[in-house]
Amino acid sequence: MAAADTSPILPGRTLGILGGGQLGAMFAMAARRMGYRVEAISDIADCPAARHCDRLHVGDYGDPAFLARAAAGLDVATFEFENIPAEAGRSLAAAVPVRPAADVLFTTQDRAREKAFLTQHGFACAPYRVVHSREDLHAAVADLGLPAVLKTAAFGYDGKGQMRLTRPEDVDTAWATLGAGPDGPRELVLEGWIDFDCEISVVAARGLDGEIAAFAPTRNAHAHHILDVSSVPAELPQPVLSAATLVAGNILTALGVVGVACVEFFVTKDGAVLVNEIAPRTHNSGHLTIEACDTSQFEQQVRAVCGLPLGSTRQRRPAAMANLLGDVWANGEPDWAAALGVPGVSLHLYGKSEPRPGRKMGHLTALADTGDEAIRRVTRARDLTRRG
Ligand code: AMP
Repeated sequence: MAAADTSPILPGRTLGILGGGQLGAMFAMAARRMGYRVEAISDIADCPAARHCDRLHVGDYGDPAFLARAAAGLDVATFEFENIPAEAGRSLAAAVPVRPAADVLFTTQDRAREKAFLTQHGFACAPYRVVHSREDLHAAVADLGLPAVLKTAAFGYDGKGQMRLTRPEDVDTAWATLGAGPDGPRELVLEGWIDFDCEISVVAARGLDGEIAAFAPTRNAHAHHILDVSSVPAELPQPVLSAATLVAGNILTALGVVGVACVEFFVTKDGAVLVNEIAPRTHNSGHLTIEACDTSQFEQQVRAVCGLPLGSTRQRRPAAMANLLGDVWANGEPDWAAALGVPGVSLHLYGKSEPRPGRKMGHLTALADTGDEAIRRVTRARDLTRRG
């Protein structure tokens, strides 16, 4: 086999991004600023990346001929979304380097495979059982106890495909809701409930040469299972932050990631860090790096997949990010001018036309002298957008 080509892909060349959402749009903005061409590959024509890339290929991720046509003009391809068949990544890889490799997508897009990977490599996570039947679920509940969380193994995100079980009567209902799919039983994972102190995440990059560069851990607050506010500093003891950073780097190395990935953690009341999820791409909790760090997570993704030196992840200022979900539009177009009147606030809108409740439409970032002040600013700015 020929040795893999490790020469850097330099500005002027063409980067492909699988997926056309806001993460792809922000990747495209960073890459084009650096002088690259960007082509996005999506199954939706009117997607956020459409306005920011040089070319958009619209087709079916399951169609190898479409993927081969899309790959023809690319020098490298990466992902912005993990609910793409890993096979699509493998098809592309026949024509162009895919970073991270499709195998990374394969492991992390399925909770059962991801948990098996974590356990095999000794990374601590919540106790879990893989469930294929109603009987399995009863046995898993008997093993792990209640409360517990039942999750579909595949294609879940932002709390979709999840149920919290608190009473024995919930077990059959949960199986009927999540397990009994129209095409036969779905694979599920039951997780023991973690009574965590807080949630944090680490966005990190790994270069072609194996070098790791991690951003400071962000503290994440969720509302209705969807990320609501992320902030840095995470206001936790240094040993906890160092442990999370080390685990994140070790996970990227064990997976062989070339690119950016995010590791989400539960921090327990006694300061242990348990891995919740791995996303093999940039992450919502890393958006504040755009304003707050020497290098944004999107520029870092460009550098990593192009085989360039990774940028400095230094945090220049405390920062907080608040998501703007479709709910903010409940009483009409939000009052952006009012939000932008709050000092240190920046607005990012993704260009999505339909503000459905729970849909990520944009975000606000605030910089300040302290993390608390950044959180106050960003939540105040978001409150001010709401009319009525
Ligand atoms: P996930 O999609 O797995 O990231 O879950 C979404 C959110 O649900 C997490 O960020 C937590 O706030 C909550 N959650 C998920 N799993 C558990 C668990 N095992 N124990 C406690 N909370 C959980």
